[in-house]
Amino acid sequence: MKPRISVISGPVVVADNMAGAKMYDVVRVGKEKLLGEIIQLDHNKAIIQVYEETTGLAPGEPVENTGMPLSVELGPGMLKGIYDGVARPLSELASQSGNFIARGIQANSIDHEKKWDFKPVVKSGDEVKEGDILGTIQETTLIEHRILVPEGVSGKVSGIKAGKFTVKENICKVGKDSVQMSQKWSVRRPRKYEIKHKPSVPLVTGRRIFDTFFPIVKGGTAAIPGPFGAGKTVTQQDLAKWCDAEIIVYIGCGERGNEMTEVLTEFPELTDPNTGKPLIERTIMIANTSNMPVAAREASIYTGITIAEYFRDQGYNVALMADSTSRWAEAMREISSRLEEMPGEEGYPAYLASRLAQFYERAGLVTTLNGNQGSVSVIGAVSPPGGDFSEPVTQNTLRVTKVFWALDAPLAYRRHFPAINWLTSYSLYSDILDEYYDKNVSKNFNTLRRKAMQLLQKEAELQEIVQLVGPDALPEDEKAVIYITKSLREDYLQQNSFHEVDAYCSMSKQNAILELILWTYDQTLLAIKDGIKVSQISALPVNEKIARVKYDKDAEKEIDNIRKEFESAVSKLEGSL
Ligand code: ADP
Repeated sequence: MKPRISVISGPVVVADNMAGAKMYDVVRVGKEKLLGEIIQLDHNKAIIQVYEETTGLAPGEPVENTGMPLSVELGPGMLKGIYDGVARPLSELASQSGNFIARGIQANSIDHEKKWDFKPVVKSGDEVKEGDILGTIQETTLIEHRILVPEGVSGKVSGIKAGKFTVKENICKVGKDSVQMSQKWSVRRPRKYEIKHKPSVPLVTGRRIFDTFFPIVKGGTAAIPGPFGAGKTVTQQDLAKWCDAEIIVYIGCGERGNEMTEVLTEFPELTDPNTGKPLIERTIMIANTSNMPVAAREASIYTGITIAEYFRDQGYNVALMADSTSRWAEAMREISSRLEEMPGEEGYPAYLASRLAQFYERAGLVTTLNGNQGSVSVIGAVSPPGGDFSEPVTQNTLRVTKVFWALDAPLAYRRHFPAINWLTSYSLYSDILDEYYDKNVSKNFNTLRRKAMQLLQKEAELQEIVQLVGPDALPEDEKAVIYITKSLREDYLQQNSFHEVDAYCSMSKQNAILELILWTYDQTLLAIKDGIKVSQISALPVNEKIARVKYDKDAEKEIDNIRKEFESAVSKLEGSL
């Protein structure tokens, strides 16, 4: 008897007569050959999650087993690409079926016709093993694509060619196997690597609150939970634009379509502050918006991280942003409830915690199979309903991620952006980076960033007193804390993502501004000793210049002038005593 659909329940379909099928085999469901994956097996009965709309599907329709796991085709031509959750290029889907994506479309992830200029780095006769680099292609002006020996293949290279080939043409033989530039990787299985290292280099984001106070490392993990409208998407997009990874994988998972459209239209216009080249040349996007099928959303996270691992194995630092992992978890919940599994907390499946952990564990700084180093950093946005961080997705995410960037509704409401709460956020990488900052930013930077955070914490305590007795009751040295932390909050922590200059702040500029603000604090403490009031200092016009220095392209030069002006204004105050 042939495999047939027996039951349809939303994105979940049951098929009978599936003898010989394996877990996670990809199947084609119904007359339209919808893409699906076996997620449970019960004798000859297979439970399948379907990655396309199942309306109209009827019991009795045929099911075909491909016998292959859910995989993504990798190779040159991926950069600048925009894919759906199962790695079909959106442009290809649109050209086959128009804006309303039809069902059952089979589309290659990469162009099979385009020819690429392949330059071998090994010769015939060389011994190679899986993961070794066979040759390179200049895919975009920013990125050289390195062709790897496919998994499970090793031996002597023979007949290696140089020149223009499509991704399906043979470029050489390794042992008995013919090798092409495209390869398929199963998405649910993490890729092998040689060694995982403890990361020690920051992933510089150009956002002051992150780099200075709550840094993430290359190969690290971070979570950004935040209520609706607090800035998760803006933050994720900022990171995708400005962080100093070489490759960006951006997963728009279950968010609204118009937000994704913004990214898609804005990205092609941005240039990389480090290289001056278009940022899109290093970016791959996966767009699985809220109106697309829920099972494909579940898959999009795996598709994204597999693409990230592929570039990591080429020796690159990759940063992956997932916005939002809550929508991913909701997809898991929906599928689990269709399977009538025993629900765990708030209806999420009991395996929610382990799935989240498995996902973040695919981040890391590694020595790859070919001995190079590469990294995948993962930054996941979480959208807790009502902004309640005690809900299961936030809690299980925080158990595995090392950085917590807490977006805060009251800050967003006050238009303090990025609305990251500096009192509740943390980074477990902060101390690890002391050595790096010492060597690469300035000898002073670690002292400055700790001192600034202590002042901000002190301010929170003082604010409680101020609320009871009013600001005038504080002694002058505590008024100085209030004065300087206002500057730290407004002139340093606040950073406008939409300002041409302020959108990106280099580490040296961060150091220079922080140094200036804390120097002002020291000068204020000295002036108090001479009998000057904090209110006199905070009323000086030079404060306005301190506030504006972050918008200055040439900030470091301007800072010298500001210091001179501040000193002379204070000595005038002293003269008039
Ligand atoms: P969420 O994804 O959490 O729902 P968004 O990222 O869409 O929230 O942010 C909501 C709004 O907040 C944005 O449209 C923007 O006006 C403002 N905003 C957020 N972050 C910033 C920032 N860093 N700079 C300026 N405005 C911001």
